[in-house]
Amino acid sequence: MYLYGTTKINQNGHLEIGGVDTVQLAEQYGTPLYVYDVALIRERARGFKQAFIEQNVTAQVAYASKAFSTIAMVQLAEEEGLSLDVVSGGELYTALTAGFPVERIHFHGNNKSREELAMALDHEIGCIVVDNFTELQLLKSLCLEKNTTVKILLRVTPGIEAHTHDYILTGQEDSKFGFDLQNGQAEEALQQVLLFPSFEVLGIHCHIGSQIFETTGFLLAAEKVFEKLHEWKQKLSFEAKVLNLGGGFGIRYTKEDEPLAPAQYVTEIIRDVKKWSDLYSMKLPEIWIEPGRSLVGDAGTTLYKVGSQKEVPNVRKYVAVDGGMSDNIRPALYQAKYEAVLANRPLAESKETVSIAGKCCESGDMLIWDLPLPAAEQEDLLAVFCTGAYGYSMANNYNRLPRPAVVFVEKGEARLVVKRETYEDLVRLDVSLK
Ligand SMILES: *Cc1c(COP(=O)(O)O)cnc(C)c1O
Repeated sequence: MYLYGTTKINQNGHLEIGGVDTVQLAEQYGTPLYVYDVALIRERARGFKQAFIEQNVTAQVAYASKAFSTIAMVQLAEEEGLSLDVVSGGELYTALTAGFPVERIHFHGNNKSREELAMALDHEIGCIVVDNFTELQLLKSLCLEKNTTVKILLRVTPGIEAHTHDYILTGQEDSKFGFDLQNGQAEEALQQVLLFPSFEVLGIHCHIGSQIFETTGFLLAAEKVFEKLHEWKQKLSFEAKVLNLGGGFGIRYTKEDEPLAPAQYVTEIIRDVKKWSDLYSMKLPEIWIEPGRSLVGDAGTTLYKVGSQKEVPNVRKYVAVDGGMSDNIRPALYQAKYEAVLANRPLAESKETVSIAGKCCESGDMLIWDLPLPAAEQEDLLAVFCTGAYGYSMANNYNRLPRPAVVFVEKGEARLVVKRETYEDLVRLDVSLK
């Protein structure tokens, strides 16, 4: 059994996270329940930051809040000195409500609306990552209307796709995001923004993928970007103050996954960025990165109550829990894999192999296929590990299931940070015909 962060088995023989017994958590807050190990989030954040500090490199580590955007999480990111990425008006609103310092908020997205861009300008956020020519024009006209200036990064697609274990180099990358680096669009965009006095062009952004276990992709991306930066320095006298290499650092969902430590990714990125800056006689840019999953993923555990079971003779045994694709859509959406144990008796011997089903009306609503588990009984508590990223943030009300509560645990204390939805919440926006 792999135990993340502060997770351990306590004297009662129960799973404990952040010094709090999970059986007690389930009793107090109900199930399903998202439990976050705050100390582990802090450790990950410090891991990313530390390597920059040690090498004396100016950097920003921006938490990609789409992985888990709530007021408490944004506040925790602030406590840890992180910056913050948002990709919508809703995430921006969450950040503003949490009181996050606006100058450290970065706004992403391939289709930001006029209203969203206006909101960003009105709140004078740190920078907007401009994605395409439509947005460029929109932002330009808004700046003129509001008689204001804005800091921007240009998002480019370097023509590298990370496929978890290998990288595909594509001449003209087929992506909905960013200006293509190879076909001249990025240069065209740069020429346009440099001519417009309301834009302060900080530099270049790229993001090559997610759940990446090696540094190769980041290093290749840096190389491609520097080749262009070198050209643009000579041609356009442009020097990037900032190079943002995005997020996508992998985490361990199951024993097949072998991620690097945060510091390892950062150390190699720094080494190569220094190398290219030196080679092209450029000033070392600030390095920004944007971890989402790797800051919160393995810090999250979901607790479920075991319910009905169904045995299909000679085929498999289904064990159903009181949640499913409504609180974790990743297995249904992209065959994501997870590990789990019975939280009320994690040391019991796993005697059978079962498949964990959700309670939604979809055959595809399965959480884990073929999980070794002790013979489960009704009311046993199932803990699914590593659900902290893209779990709650992708949660939905399919079948009108209320979304679970979220608790933060740290040093023996639990804190409710998102309340469980009620049935009243579910119909709150409905308008009655009567
Ligand atoms: C999604 C995303 C991230 C975070 O990705 P993770 O895999 O969660 O680390 C960072 N930057 C951008 C631009 C993204 O779209």
